[in-house]
Amino acid sequence: MTDAAAQAKPRVLSGITATGNLTIGNYIGALSVWAEEQDRYENFFFIADLHALTIPEAIKADDLRRRIREIVALYLACGLDPAKSVLFLQSRVPAHAMLNWIFDCVTPVSWLERMTQYKSKSQGANPSAGLFTYPALMAADILLYQAQFVPVGDDQRQHVELTRDVANRFNSMFGECFRVPDALIRKSGARIMGLDDPTAKMSKSKAETHEGHAIGLLDDPKKIRKAIMRAVTDAGSAVDRENLSPGVDNLLVLHEALSGATREETLDRFDGNGYGTLKKDLAELVLDKIAPIQSRFKEIHGEIGYLEKVLADGAEKAAEVADATLNRAMELVGLR
Ligand code: ATP
Ligand code: MG
Repeated sequence: MTDAAAQAKPRVLSGITATGNLTIGNYIGALSVWAEEQDRYENFFFIADLHALTIPEAIKADDLRRRIREIVALYLACGLDPAKSVLFLQSRVPAHAMLNWIFDCVTPVSWLERMTQYKSKSQGANPSAGLFTYPALMAADILLYQAQFVPVGDDQRQHVELTRDVANRFNSMFGECFRVPDALIRKSGARIMGLDDPTAKMSKSKAETHEGHAIGLLDDPKKIRKAIMRAVTDAGSAVDRENLSPGVDNLLVLHEALSGATREETLDRFDGNGYGTLKKDLAELVLDKIAPIQSRFKEIHGEIGYLEKVLADGAEKAAEVADATLNRAMELVGLR
């Protein structure tokens, strides 16, 4: 592809926090979309290691280092291609932290107080200031790259809205600097729910402490089968298309997202079938999808030199774009 052709493509940026074993939710809501649409866009995908520090009680330095390597290997195993996508580690591009500070100073506290993720993640804890200002760092992550689209799961919709508000506020206070991006959210599968509790979003950090909550991309087949077979449904016993409880709906969403079938086709196939049949079928579908990812992961994960090179090349390319935006923002506020 020529440089001009690459530039004609809309730019996307997204990332995943290095907080745990990536789940099938992360795969369906984010990673699979990034990989499938790679040729349509100019792509920037990062590993959010700075965001992983927002809950300090959960930080274990060696675990964080291990996870970062795991995630970059998973990015590659899921089909992200360094020739098509800039893959990088957030902390290797210092512009993120610098623009974050500028945004902390531009973002009203009242906006951050409305963030539902902060409300749910800070419950029962003594939350860090970083957890509270997380969305300002996320705004910096996105706006540094002048991204047009941000492919994310439904839970990040509110943060992308805030990013748009921060961009508009900065642009009107100091002068045109940031492109206002749009979230790119798939219609079905953008909010996979927990298998143990279909009223709560599946989350990789929750999976660290809740057995049976998630399907981890690196889980072994036995664990995956068990989690699916034990998934919470309802008091009924067979799929009834007129009356789907949240747990059964979630299993159907998982099935259709992974098979590529429509809801109608999926319902035609399972209506009247026992929950056990649906679960068994889903387990095999998940394992079929995950097996090639796991085998590629095993091949790549030990190639430390290669993984380091991917991240070093990615950081160089990312910094080029990020630094140009940061310089302009610094000029506009009078820091340059
Ligand atoms: P954590 O529990 O640490 O917040 P997470 O599983 O929510 O982890 P994130 O790193 O916060 O994952 O999000 C990475 C991407 O995956 C985002 O685009 C997010 O919207 C998407 N995502 C997360 N959970 C789900 C889910 N259950 N269904 C669909 N997409 C999801
Ligand atoms: Mg999350």
